[in-house]
Amino acid sequence: MNFEPVIGLEIHVELGTKTKLFCGCANVFGAAPNTQVCPVCLGLPGTLPVLNQTAVEFLLRAGLAFGCSSPEKSKFDRKNYFYPDMPKNYQISQYDLPFAVQGKLAIHAEGSSKEIRIHRIHLEEDTGKSIHAGAAGGRMGASDYTLLDYNRAGVPLIEIVTEPDIRTPLEAVDFLQKLRLTLQTLDISDCKMEEGSMRCDANVSLRPVGAATYGAKVEVKNMNSFKSVRDALIYEIERQTKALQNGERLVQETRAWDEGKKFTFSMRSKEEAHDYRYFPEPDLPPFVVDQKLLKTIQSTLPELPEIRRKRYELEFSLSSEESEFLVESLSLSLFFDQTVKLKKAPKEITNWLRGDVSKLLNEQGKEIAQTKLSPGLLIELIELIEKGTISGKIAKEVLPEVLLEGKSPSRLIEEKGLTQISDNASLEPVILEVLQDTGSKKAVDDYLAGNERSFGFLVGSVMKKTKGKANPQVINQLLKKALDNLKKVPK
Ligand code: ADP
Ligand code: ZN
Ligand code: MG
Repeated sequence: MNFEPVIGLEIHVELGTKTKLFCGCANVFGAAPNTQVCPVCLGLPGTLPVLNQTAVEFLLRAGLAFGCSSPEKSKFDRKNYFYPDMPKNYQISQYDLPFAVQGKLAIHAEGSSKEIRIHRIHLEEDTGKSIHAGAAGGRMGASDYTLLDYNRAGVPLIEIVTEPDIRTPLEAVDFLQKLRLTLQTLDISDCKMEEGSMRCDANVSLRPVGAATYGAKVEVKNMNSFKSVRDALIYEIERQTKALQNGERLVQETRAWDEGKKFTFSMRSKEEAHDYRYFPEPDLPPFVVDQKLLKTIQSTLPELPEIRRKRYELEFSLSSEESEFLVESLSLSLFFDQTVKLKKAPKEITNWLRGDVSKLLNEQGKEIAQTKLSPGLLIELIELIEKGTISGKIAKEVLPEVLLEGKSPSRLIEEKGLTQISDNASLEPVILEVLQDTGSKKAVDDYLAGNERSFGFLVGSVMKKTKGKANPQVINQLLKKALDNLKKVPK
């Protein structure tokens, strides 16, 4: 029997507000343990939460970007569970009235476009962090001792829950990439999976192809990169397929992904699932979503990736591959926007960004914003070629220093004596030299006998002799003239 995977994602994203969700503590990553805490986020008795309005606005921004609607009334609920990294022994979250519901996000994996429905987006506080340490350290329950850092306790999180509309691991990764790009564009989170500001749990089940109902789902946790989400899903789909083919019955459970050993293992089954005993948070009044605020947020949303992609195609006649390439990285598309404002040369700019610039970025493992390349410097380089001061080849040669050290291309070229040689007086002797060279004899004879292809070899020889500095157009002209003169000379 053939089975079809059914996948739904739950994504937690830390919001980049200045302060935490219910207190004035700084919301920063990487501070010394337990330095960003106060009585409220430590859950001391007698303290009261005060809602951070910016966090609500950030969530509403995301909701509107994904076309969600926001119920007029919303509220917070207590999710009760006992865990050492949660000092209050409950988490303030949202249960039945989240701030945003029923949105969607288009993905393009596997060739065609497809919409993934977003079920809900709610606001909640993050927990602290347990660091399982000691000789046995590592996996939960297998460490000598546990350190607790409460800096993260109370950091605002949004949880985005999709409908089970995803069908392949590739679609899941594409969804996450598009989601991250949108949230970064909205400037509400840096979405760094490696720092935990974006975390993803993946629910996956199988069903016979054509079946109308879903099978028992397995929730997989503990993936910390897009690649591990993909690997974990591939593993889990294979595991479930084998089990079903062996006639086993799958049960609903939560499993964890072991990144080192590349397999999932069971954490708890449905029977062991928590009963969170949700109830309305008594310390926070129900929240009325202000319709005027929603309108204001809607009208100030930045240009979203999908719209930007279409604009590049329409405004600059870029191909869909070119615009997709630029839009995939927020920093690259912002760089493109600034550069094309300085000079309307979208094709040249795109070629540089897709070609040598992105090659260097890959080598360096950097985003363009982390380099010293500025829109002004790239335009300077493009214009030096345009004016004939340097060849494209020399431009490629100086690019690394421009990008890594922020040096001006014109200055570099002057310092290194790389200016293009375009005057006849300097090039004519070189051409003569090449034509008289014994190594050129065959090419010259071939050319004179009508084989035009050997012309390229002669151009290359002149280039070599000038260390790539000769202007190719001028070489072409002068070389043709010189060869034509040879033709006229009787043998
Ligand atoms: P729970 O109540 O266990 O949290 P939800 O209905 O809230 O389950 O769904 C949680 C996530 O699991 C959602 O992303 C949803 O799309 C996904 N999901 C639900 N049922 C299935 C299923 N049978 N197979 C795969 N994913 C599922
Ligand atoms: Zn605090
Ligand atoms: Mg759920």
